[in-house]
Amino acid sequence: MSRFLSARYRDLIPYVPGEQPAGRTYIKLNTNESPFPVDEEVLKEAFRKCRPFQLYSDPESAELRQAMGGVYGLSGREVLACNGSDEALNLAFMTFCDEETPALFPDVTYGFYRVAADANRVPYEEVPLREDFSLALSDYEGKRGTLFLANPNAPTGMALARGEIEQWLSDHPDQLTVVDEAYVDFGSESCAPLVRKYPNLLVVQTFSKSRSLAGARLGFAFGGEDLIRDLNTLRNAVAPYNVNSMTQALGLEVLKRQDQVKERCRVIGETRSWTENMLRELGFFVLPSRTNFVFAKSDRMSGEALYIALREKGILVRHFDSPRIRDYNRISIGTMGQMEALKGALTEVLSEGRVPHAEK
Ligand code: PMP
Repeated sequence: MSRFLSARYRDLIPYVPGEQPAGRTYIKLNTNESPFPVDEEVLKEAFRKCRPFQLYSDPESAELRQAMGGVYGLSGREVLACNGSDEALNLAFMTFCDEETPALFPDVTYGFYRVAADANRVPYEEVPLREDFSLALSDYEGKRGTLFLANPNAPTGMALARGEIEQWLSDHPDQLTVVDEAYVDFGSESCAPLVRKYPNLLVVQTFSKSRSLAGARLGFAFGGEDLIRDLNTLRNAVAPYNVNSMTQALGLEVLKRQDQVKERCRVIGETRSWTENMLRELGFFVLPSRTNFVFAKSDRMSGEALYIALREKGILVRHFDSPRIRDYNRISIGTMGQMEALKGALTEVLSEGRVPHAEK
């Protein structure tokens, strides 16, 4: 820490992203990226159509917003394009939360919410998930503030039905609810088509998972025109050229190939079922997942010991050292070949019988 750091940030604990290792080649099952590369044709077309780099990118991402809105029957004015969905989420904390309107989110959810709240000096309440990690909206009844809801949730992978969220929106018209749908394409229902009906709803999505563009950094927010205008005011205050030209062009090309995205999600779904069965056969307890990852624990090894043992065998998974979930690991769904390698490594690790659970 330098002596120049603002006193405001001296206690800030930043978000810790999953490792992106250089050097040894790992099978990366730790940050829920897509195992499928961006299509060659998408790369070629995007490069060809991209705005010349000596010019600034379109600060409004106009064409992209319109194309994205089209997927859900929305106009470009109901869409905000962002540098990854983290930017959209951070803008939502900046724009819609303050001392009077704190943030509400589950105790087990995407770790960035707590960090964004802290960085923006927003007070927050973490509402415990139920014992089985399910989320009951009734637990938020009577609480003041903007609700941040990852649906499906991470790292649990569990989802609420759209109908439940719609009921909540209808019953709480004066409370903003932000639904983070980073994993929605893998098997749950999007709330994006509801934003016209519910001015108290903001939906956030990303192209980092189902659409293979994690490195390009592209995310969106969907909401009523007023909400999007407010977010844009803040965006223009901090990052007017937030989406670079190459990413805008890539996003447009990917949007033209919705069938490919659907097909890739179907394959991930199949591989996920295979992985869940494989883990259960090896004695794991696996939460029901609607995402491109599974959250699982073994009663034969601690979560941390398993994470370390897999790492030594060249497989990265994600372990979170927080009390309610430290027995678990979050495992991204990769290619079938990668999941077979995982099976081999797990079989070896468990038979080596290292660091039994009880010793932790
Ligand atoms: N929301 C959730 C629930 C996530 O898991 C992630 C990925 N870490 C994000 C948002 C952010 O994704 P990105 O910034 O890559 O769009």
